[in-house]
Amino acid sequence: MPLIGCHVSIGGGVQNAPERGKTLGCDAIQIFTANQMQWKGAPISAESRDKYISEIGENDIKMVVSHDSYLINLGSPESVKLAMSRKSFIEEIERSTFLKIPYIVFHPGSHMGKGDDAALQTIAESLDYCMEKVPGSDVSLLLEITAGQGTNVGYKFEQLKNIIDHSSYPDRLGVCFDTCHAFAAGYNIANEAGYSDTFQKFDDIIGLDRLKVFHLNDSKKPVGSRVDRHHRLGEGFMGWEVFYRLVNDEHFANLPMILETPGDEEHYGGEIQLLKNACK
Ligand SMILES: [Zn+2]
Ligand SMILES: [Zn+2]
Repeated sequence: MPLIGCHVSIGGGVQNAPERGKTLGCDAIQIFTANQMQWKGAPISAESRDKYISEIGENDIKMVVSHDSYLINLGSPESVKLAMSRKSFIEEIERSTFLKIPYIVFHPGSHMGKGDDAALQTIAESLDYCMEKVPGSDVSLLLEITAGQGTNVGYKFEQLKNIIDHSSYPDRLGVCFDTCHAFAAGYNIANEAGYSDTFQKFDDIIGLDRLKVFHLNDSKKPVGSRVDRHHRLGEGFMGWEVFYRLVNDEHFANLPMILETPGDEEHYGGEIQLLKNACK
């Protein structure tokens, strides 16, 4: 059975996240290790860290993943913005390493009018640069597939593979598969044939062994819309079937599957329960 859970707040301190997750029925949680809308994250004290680690055990949370700040663009063509993005991403690696979090999920980046290829190259260079700045870390960096909205890159498996191929540290890179993003990007996983075809392509192009985390979201926009609008499971253009198929897919049996559906944190409890009940 996969590790089903959701994104939870670190309000009041990172040490509060595990209990929030447990209350909602999570086996895995995703957190921001700092305010996701600010460049400079607040440092985490050793006391908070120690409390957080003991809370993970007490609340039986089996996996924690972090998500980077929405401001970061590791593919930016502007040198100032790129430097700020890299600095902020390095701090994310440092905080996640300090918290013993194994995976950072991040949006690859945006080309801002300069074209996909330039951004893909810059992103690979940014990842090398950032990993080299935190030499003691073994945290894995997971490229999240995007919807391809605006100038975002990473909406095709070939683009994610391109970044991995240009990295000097490919062993540290993996992929986070967001169902809404993939669907909006044109991968029609909502029906059985499209589902099989999509994951076969993923395996052929990237390799399923690189797929480490799922984001489970329905989509408010149709397949191929290139618009990133999450919906609650079963309420969007995707429907429930794909999510029941995913949680029972033996290829993904032990992977974290994280909800990022809209609404207050409390609503996650019902979706998590429905997914767990669907596991055979
Ligand atoms: Zn996501
Ligand atoms: Zn999204």
